[in-house]
Amino acid sequence: PEAVASTSPTTPETLLRDVFGLREFRGQQRAVIDAIVEGCNALVLMPTGGGKSLCYQIPALLRPGTAVVVSPLIALMRDQVAALERYGVRAACLHTGLDDDDRRAIEQQLDAGELDLLYLAPERLLSASMLARLERIDLALFAIDEAHCVSQWGHAFRPEYMQLSQLGERFPAVPRLALTATADARTRGEIQQQLLDDDAGCFIDSFDRPNIHYQVGIKDRANDQLLAFIRKNHPNDAGIVYCLSRKRTEAVAEWLTNQGLTALPYHAGLSAQAREDCQTRFLREDGIIIVATVAFGMGIDKPDVRFVAHLDLPKSLEAYYQETGRAGRDGQPANAWLVYSLQDIVQVRQLIARSEVNANQQQVERERLETLLAFCESRACRHQELLRYFGESHPGDCGQCDNCQSPPESWDATEAARKALSCVYRSGQRFGAAHTSDILVGHKSPRVAQLGHDKLSTFGIGSEHPRATWLSVIRQLLARGHLQTDADGHGGLQLSDSCRPLLRGEESLLLRRDQLPRKKHSRSDQA
Ligand code: ADP
Ligand code: ZN
Repeated sequence: PEAVASTSPTTPETLLRDVFGLREFRGQQRAVIDAIVEGCNALVLMPTGGGKSLCYQIPALLRPGTAVVVSPLIALMRDQVAALERYGVRAACLHTGLDDDDRRAIEQQLDAGELDLLYLAPERLLSASMLARLERIDLALFAIDEAHCVSQWGHAFRPEYMQLSQLGERFPAVPRLALTATADARTRGEIQQQLLDDDAGCFIDSFDRPNIHYQVGIKDRANDQLLAFIRKNHPNDAGIVYCLSRKRTEAVAEWLTNQGLTALPYHAGLSAQAREDCQTRFLREDGIIIVATVAFGMGIDKPDVRFVAHLDLPKSLEAYYQETGRAGRDGQPANAWLVYSLQDIVQVRQLIARSEVNANQQQVERERLETLLAFCESRACRHQELLRYFGESHPGDCGQCDNCQSPPESWDATEAARKALSCVYRSGQRFGAAHTSDILVGHKSPRVAQLGHDKLSTFGIGSEHPRATWLSVIRQLLARGHLQTDADGHGGLQLSDSCRPLLRGEESLLLRRDQLPRKKHSRSDQA
């Protein structure tokens, strides 16, 4: 290619230096490049910000022909093309926003072999006319970005991605790379099966993000907790706040704005223009806070996001890792902050129970929730726990996360758990945590009186603990799956089989003592 005309032989190193202005390869980059240049297929698992793009951009310049890059995200493709053009690389992107003249011009360049890289959305690549066009020209490789979108179990499934499996049959001589930052074993298997083949090399970089400080707390008054966290740690920083619903993103953004911060809502219900404006401001201006649903973030390359906050539980530990991974991509310290409550657990379980997916998938969702909650409730180092989930081990404790810095106390809750479980049982396994706690502490609320629950043998059996402790016990029993919510999604607590050894006295239970804000014994750094 013109861009790399020089007298020395063109190698991955010279391209890295002369075209991209970088000094050395990171992690698995060089190994991936070698595999592709030799014509092999490769699965590339690197955390967000790990440098996946170079894994196909450099082979695109080393191999004859055009490299075709598939991505679901127009904004991301346009950014990459703009960056490549600045480096003098001949790249273009075909997307629906182009007018006919621009589109024809790009197609002519493609036909004439004048493009090193062509970026496309999957549905455009798969159109009959594009496939026919690509069959007529030389292709360097196919790079399939965000490859986890092919996973039906994943959180970002896109049916178009399944169709990409035909690339192998139609273009058997063209090497394929599938790239993702999602690494759990099930997704990995699906990518390999759908997009690659059995001999594809698998290249994995560490998922550890040592510069991210993880902090998980119990939700009490969410907005105030968030504001205190931002004012204390990030008064002028860019950050992302994730919420579950569109309505809540707007309410929280408005509230933060009223407190003097610059906060913008972002969700899929906004117009395309409004969303693009929001992204542009986030990228260009300093100190913007985006309050978003999960619709925000995939492919946003902003290195200096200093914090990611979750006001609601993410969908899974995987999603939590992805979302928090958007902080601190420049390697500088960043915060991942999450608060959740018993009510959140009940709400997510209700959403799962009421969702229209089949029983099998509901089971998967429940398991995902339990994995996430186990992480939240864990007393171990957060870095260790996260890496364990990705099948990696972390050497020792990080010394930085909330659990390392202020190890949570635990207490023997065997007796308390038994009382809570009996109380759920005696009241008929139909009532929620608030009502159950009232019975335990012996509080004769109007509802307790009306239902005659003050006559139950369990009324007042837990008066030695305050109500907050009972809510904490119930939350942790739910998180561990010893309690469940009713299948019709009303939030009534029920015993599950796993609580039996505990009830029979065959098992003891250590629980985490919650550190709630604004109580006398709370620690100032714990939200
Ligand atoms: P990913 O797609 O894995 O999220 P990118 O390919 O967008 O990551 O790269 C993230 C950032 O890291 C980019 O700013 C890129 O220039 C930078 N980068 C990638 N590889 C290297 C390297 N070998 N040395 C220095 N910086 C790199
Ligand atoms: Zn730690």
